[in-house]
Amino acid sequence: MDFSIPPAAAALLAELRAFIHQELLPREPALLRAGFLASESELDQLRQRARRAGLWGPQIPKELGGLGLSLLDHALVSEQLGYSPFGHYVVGAQAPDAGNIELLHRYGSDEQRARYLLPLAAGQLRSCFSMTEPEHPGSNPTQLSCAARKGADGYIIDGHKWFTSSAEGAAFAIVMAITDPDAEPHRRASMFLVPTDTPGFVHVRNIPIFGHAGGGYDSHAELRYEACRVPLEARIGPEGAGFQIAQERLGPGRIHHCMRWLGICQRAFDLMCERARTRELEPGVPLASKQTIQTWVAESRARIDAARLLVLHTAWLIDQRGFAAAREQVSLIKFHVAELLGQVLDRAIQTHGALGLTDDTVLAFFYTRERGARIYDGPDEVHKAVVARRIFSAAARATRLEGPVR
Ligand SMILES: Cc1cc2nc3c(=O)[nH]c(=O)nc-3n(C[C@H](O)[C@H](O)[C@H](O)COP(=O)(O)OP(=O)(O)OC[C@H]3O[C@@H](n4cnc5c(N)ncnc54)[C@H](O)[C@@H]3O)c2cc1C
Repeated sequence: MDFSIPPAAAALLAELRAFIHQELLPREPALLRAGFLASESELDQLRQRARRAGLWGPQIPKELGGLGLSLLDHALVSEQLGYSPFGHYVVGAQAPDAGNIELLHRYGSDEQRARYLLPLAAGQLRSCFSMTEPEHPGSNPTQLSCAARKGADGYIIDGHKWFTSSAEGAAFAIVMAITDPDAEPHRRASMFLVPTDTPGFVHVRNIPIFGHAGGGYDSHAELRYEACRVPLEARIGPEGAGFQIAQERLGPGRIHHCMRWLGICQRAFDLMCERARTRELEPGVPLASKQTIQTWVAESRARIDAARLLVLHTAWLIDQRGFAAAREQVSLIKFHVAELLGQVLDRAIQTHGALGLTDDTVLAFFYTRERGARIYDGPDEVHKAVVARRIFSAAARATRLEGPVR
């Protein structure tokens, strides 16, 4: 087993690290103070610099102008980028666009690719993904109400969605809507590309989260689709394939998220160590001399490193054998890293005392923005149930073959 990073990936990681530390981190406090919306032009300049440095689109296929990295290599990159809240954005690897690029690359028609995918991959426009509804459990997406009725020249979409991230300012939404309510549950829905200037696309509000409604890329919208007419060609992939496409979109996305969360863990860890080393409780007695802090630091190091290996192994498995072979591992990493993220951030904040609650470090931003990690992409409890079911059925199989465990 070889744990070394291939030289090409190692070189790219070093360049990314330098870019983040030299170009991004010095600007980060001002960008965070201003917010994403007011920072768009400065972020665009940073994107230009990233492009000139050959860092644009690590996960974007080469034919669309990206670096075309394997999932494993992109996982390593995603960890580096997660160090700053702006990391993924400045190289065009941000959710939900990254997943939508993948989806349109795989299932988009020639027209959808030319008109939407190419400019999306080039960072000229943004997109959003509109599936969850306030009236139904997002954890069971077969329970949708949003419907697309087929007519002679297109579909009419009616529905109510929320938590459509980054909808404000997006050029189009990818919408999940029921096309055949009588089909078996996983064949009922289809996906549609809906330009946000389509009559009947209604942006109700940006939903305040922990007191912040955000804006632009950094927002989560409540939307209504009110007799929203789209042509037949707006459908993405075959009718009834919505769930299958959504599942494929989420698979690699979970690797990207987990490694991004590990990048955040590393940032919180570095800040925790720095504060513990430099905060003196009395002259010559730093916080780092206290056993509780030492335990937090040592445990956090072990858990971050262990989680990292778990995620990289899962990425490797998907690269080698496809998503279906890694289903259990994908569920494992999703809840494991999401929980770890909360724990490391909480310990870093506690180590900073009152300072940890302020906006004078990046910790509070991460703490409020990333609490959702345990809820989106499948709540942790659902992933735990998936893992447990697989473990129990594997145990039953083994018992049938080998007899009971003694
Ligand atoms: C920050 C953020 C960004 C998001 N972005 C998007 C987006 O861009 N597009 C989009 O369509 N959606 C988005 N979502 C929505 C997200 O996908 C849903 O919130 C998620 O699927 C959970 O659905 P729900 O909120 O309806 O919770 P529910 O389904 O109502 O579940 C509530 C809770 O019940 C528990 N639970 C649920 N099922 C089980 C079970 N089987 N066993 C045990 N416990 C269970 C869990 O603790 C869960 O948190 C986002 C959410 C957040 C927080």
